[in-house]
Amino acid sequence: MTRTFFWAVENKSTANRKGVYPKIIALLSLLPVFTSFIATAQLQSNRVFEQLGTELPTPNTYRTGSGAPGRDYFQQKADYSIKVELDDVNQRIIGEEVVTYYNYSPDPLSYIWVQLDMNMFKDNSINALSKTGGIDEKMTSGQLSGLQSANSVYGDVDNSRERGYDIKYVKNMAGRDLKHTINSTMMRIDLPEPLTTNQSVQFQIAWSYNMADYYGRSGYEYFEEDGNYNYFVAHWFPRMCVYDDVNGWQNKQFVGNGEFALVFGDYEVEITVPDDHVVVATGECQNWDKVLTRTQKKRLDEASKATDPVLIVTQEEAIENSKTKSDKKQTWKYKASNVRDFAFASSRRFIWDAMQTDVYGNGRKIWSMSVYPKEGNPLWGQYSTKVVEHTLKTYGKSTIEYPYPVAISCHATPRGGMEYPMISFNGGRPEADGTYSENVKRGMIGVIIHEVGHNFFPMIINSDERQWTWMDEGLNSFCQYLSEQEWSRDFPSRRGEPKNIVSYMRSDPSQMQPIMTNSEQVIQFGNNAYGKPATALNILRETVMGRELFDYAFKEYAKRWAFKHPKPADFFRTMEDASGVDLDWFWRGWFYTTEAVDQDLAEVEWFSLDTQNPEIVKAEGRAEHEKDTETIANIRNRTDIPQTVEEADEKYRDFYSSYDPYEVTPQDKQRYEAYLKTLSEDERKLVESGMNYYALKVKNKGGLVMPLIVKMEFEDGTEEVVRFPAEIWRKNNIEITKTIPTKKRVKKFVLDPYQEIADIDDSNNAFPREPEKPTRFQLYKSSSRASTNPMQEARQNGAAATQGAD
Ligand SMILES: [Zn+2]
Repeated sequence: MTRTFFWAVENKSTANRKGVYPKIIALLSLLPVFTSFIATAQLQSNRVFEQLGTELPTPNTYRTGSGAPGRDYFQQKADYSIKVELDDVNQRIIGEEVVTYYNYSPDPLSYIWVQLDMNMFKDNSINALSKTGGIDEKMTSGQLSGLQSANSVYGDVDNSRERGYDIKYVKNMAGRDLKHTINSTMMRIDLPEPLTTNQSVQFQIAWSYNMADYYGRSGYEYFEEDGNYNYFVAHWFPRMCVYDDVNGWQNKQFVGNGEFALVFGDYEVEITVPDDHVVVATGECQNWDKVLTRTQKKRLDEASKATDPVLIVTQEEAIENSKTKSDKKQTWKYKASNVRDFAFASSRRFIWDAMQTDVYGNGRKIWSMSVYPKEGNPLWGQYSTKVVEHTLKTYGKSTIEYPYPVAISCHATPRGGMEYPMISFNGGRPEADGTYSENVKRGMIGVIIHEVGHNFFPMIINSDERQWTWMDEGLNSFCQYLSEQEWSRDFPSRRGEPKNIVSYMRSDPSQMQPIMTNSEQVIQFGNNAYGKPATALNILRETVMGRELFDYAFKEYAKRWAFKHPKPADFFRTMEDASGVDLDWFWRGWFYTTEAVDQDLAEVEWFSLDTQNPEIVKAEGRAEHEKDTETIANIRNRTDIPQTVEEADEKYRDFYSSYDPYEVTPQDKQRYEAYLKTLSEDERKLVESGMNYYALKVKNKGGLVMPLIVKMEFEDGTEEVVRFPAEIWRKNNIEITKTIPTKKRVKKFVLDPYQEIADIDDSNNAFPREPEKPTRFQLYKSSSRASTNPMQEARQNGAAATQGAD
């Protein structure tokens, strides 16, 4: 479109908030002199749209500028052969392992680093020593001791028993001790010879430790009624640190929040447990034939062809099992390929169900399984395994198809969840009477999706959790949101919807940190590392990039970095590289600052082109005049003054006494005809179009630039939504004026009508402003809140009805 015309304000009336009359503007020819007019907007010094320069590392041959692994990309490998015994009498883990470590880096390594995670629970760990907090008058003894002992996700670990690893030996394969130095949760093993490129080294370690009550990531749950334990065993063996092109050794201490950085490898694990236990673990069991009963084996065969979960151990059998304790042992042999970790669960109380299904319709069957104590029913039997399969299916659409042969959900705890390759420990427990609140049910389904979903981030797309929590939790919470929405319509997902992050984005800035903050320093952990990045991705998908471009790029990231170690820049760069959308401003705002979105529709000015048509101009003039004369004095004078002098006496009247200035005269028509002749065809069309021009002044009060989404409610009752990209702020990120032409007259403008940009103050989003919603208050009587467990109430009602019938 060529711009032949420019238009300028003729009528400089003040902003017409009631919006009754437009300001009239006249057509003028565009002359070079008008360039000065354009430059009236105040330019702000503004780096919002500058490309991320120093914030991202310089691309190199390990990691390219496109976000893909480079031609020299390398990663290490560690294979483990482990024999472990679970001591059910003392709740101890006793293990021996042979580690084969492969150096594919270009660098010779004279020492290697091994992680001893359980040492976090020792009294001298950074976690224990760096705890802060004062005394308050009503402290429990647990809280008091918690001031100085290591903590867990769920509170303080009981340190009455010795905690941490007891390392029995570190030897080479000839049986000679290797010099090793333990620095809290890290152990350096000095190699007799440097390990050069493409060489491997083998060594063996023996260890043991006392397990703790389930503390959020692993441990046991004790059941007093039958004196049995359910065991959930994780980060239970000395594991290799990551050595890479970015950090060298990632040997940052395990302080508690920053989870794990681990290398891929192959595992052979022999797990010895009481012979009445059922074991599930990362990988595939190699000796089901030996460890299972004939009936269990038959049921597994059935489950391998089923499309609904089949019970391998029933609730009745689990209850029966828990009545006695066998003192015989049995060894379950597991193998897992290309995994970054290994975990298992073991108990004589487990109910076990499974199905092996063709999840992706490609002929490859994958086991979905669950183990749970009877305390998990009826929820677990009804939902868990189906939710596992659903997770694999939906994540497969947004990332890659699940490559492993099995995925397991274990009911480990009333609340929370924790992820390991192929196996996860999850909460969500009904009341003892079998009823549950809707929250418990949704929470259980959500947590299973989340923890099984972690197979993709970080188990396969293997980011460094010790450094960046958001890279797995944020991306996973986003995929969890997508998966939940496919589980049930309008599933009330906790994280993902922009409106759900608003209260966090409104927080006191001193209580916030950018997403790009190391895991240990993050405050408001759930919002910072889960909610905000998940929301950011959802906004990219729905509002900034659109579903098609986003989905392609996100999938590309998953494909590029599956079974590799991505860093933040690899994600940022891939999302741009595969979509052709400049997102540097988005990463900068959402990931490197704590700013929020608050768009303020401060003012709207209404302009319409001066048609100069006397029929229109004079009619509008009359209407305005009539409105103008409707003052209180005039209204009262009409009755209070029966006659004026002029009315009473004809001789005081003249031409102007009856002149109507709003009547269209033949001269008016001639002048209009003459004017039309001066216009070209295009100009004439424009003048006759009757266009309205609305100039919206929008202020960016929150700091984060975002697309501008405007709903126009027209006088005729119809609506239209127009969208402008975030680049609308590229020359001035403080205040802009956007002019929207429309034939219809607008009654009201509303910004962000679908709550898609996490605007923290929607009271300034409408023009004219909307009245504030009332604050509701209750007459104080007594608590009459709705029940959180209507299922229980319904059951009580049912019982009462039954009693009445008797
Ligand atoms: Zn998680």
